Amino acid sequence: MTEPVETLTPMLEATALVEEAGGDTVRACYQCGTCTASCPHGRVSDFRVRNLLRLVQMGLEGYEGEQLWRCTTCNLCVERCPREVEIVEVITATRRLMAEAGSVPGTLAAAMGSIASVGNPWSGEPEQRHAWAKEIPLPAYEPSMDVLLFICCTVNYDPRSRQVGEATLRLLKRAGVTFGVMREEQCCGESARKAGREDLFQGLCENNTRGIVGSGAKRVVTTSPHCHHTLSKEYPGLAGGPEIVHVVTLLRQLIDAGRLVPRAPIRKKITYHDPCYLGRHAGLYDDARAVLAAIPGVELVEMRSNRENSMCCGGGGGGMWLDRKPEERLSVARWKQADEVGAQTIATACPYCELMLEDGKSAMGRDETHFVVDVIQLLDESVRGTTE
Ligand code: SF4
Ligand code: SF4
Repeated sequence: MTEPVETLTPMLEATALVEEAGGDTVRACYQCGTCTASCPHGRVSDFRVRNLLRLVQMGLEGYEGEQLWRCTTCNLCVERCPREVEIVEVITATRRLMAEAGSVPGTLAAAMGSIASVGNPWSGEPEQRHAWAKEIPLPAYEPSMDVLLFICCTVNYDPRSRQVGEATLRLLKRAGVTFGVMREEQCCGESARKAGREDLFQGLCENNTRGIVGSGAKRVVTTSPHCHHTLSKEYPGLAGGPEIVHVVTLLRQLIDAGRLVPRAPIRKKITYHDPCYLGRHAGLYDDARAVLAAIPGVELVEMRSNRENSMCCGGGGGGMWLDRKPEERLSVARWKQADEVGAQTIATACPYCELMLEDGKSAMGRDETHFVVDVIQLLDESVRGTTE
């Protein structure tokens, strides 16, 4: 439970502190409400982002509860705001004030505590970080290798996500791509920064930047859109340095070059969920769709909210570690959109989206009838011929 902000900082100073912490566009808001109309949370809960911005403008007087932690930083409202208010920056800056005062929701605080103590939000042992890779081991990166793989904590420690990691390694090996990892790899820090833990983020950024620059790698391939965003846009020490590529982009290139050939048909009606950090934040809408289109038999159908207008799964901005009532989960709302186009399988390209959509499916009692897959797993199945 968060504390009322007036116990944390004098109210009259709060707006100025938010501006100093990166939310300096907040006063441009003229309360038109376009953001609230855009925000997917408005469809499932009483969260109204316009009201939150007003509260920030008014020095947070009367703020209480956990509204501030609803935003999943999906960026939809930012793209639509007529006054170019950097809404995600304002919310993140306000969270910094809260975090500095020790006022963070319990489950999110626990994940941040895990990052602080072991370098990942899953309480995984650091020395076991890459131990999942048994079928195809993950060697330490050497400059003679094609790519440095930067592997998301969720792939490293979550058993379901590891299957996507294993499929990734099989595909890269089959295509003749040589790869290695850096042993000092830690969480990219995306959740920490968006949860207001700038102190944690800075430490992770320093560690990972040192490791990547020290490796001499020219090409870094990330397994998560969140790592892709953070390394390419939020690590100043990597600016102008190595190329940062999301793995699905690389796989598309390998298909185009004829180094991966999907042969076995997968005869399914599939809809694709754009991860916010691959779609709106990075503008990469086509790579995953091109991979799906290359697989024989796949019938790709689009949900009502797609590409630039896609709906968040609920996992970004620290949402992965926050409890929501089933009726307030965006993943449930997303499954209802899949129902509208008759798809019982949602494919995506992000470890967070996969876990959130699995959670939504379970909340709806659909574990046996509906499926969440990563486009990488589908490609791996088709390339290996395991579908026939
Ligand atoms: S869309 Fe922009 S200007 Fe309109 S209420 Fe939201 S933040 Fe304010
Ligand atoms: S970034 Fe997304 S989740 Fe956050 S307030 Fe805007 S639309 Fe809502």
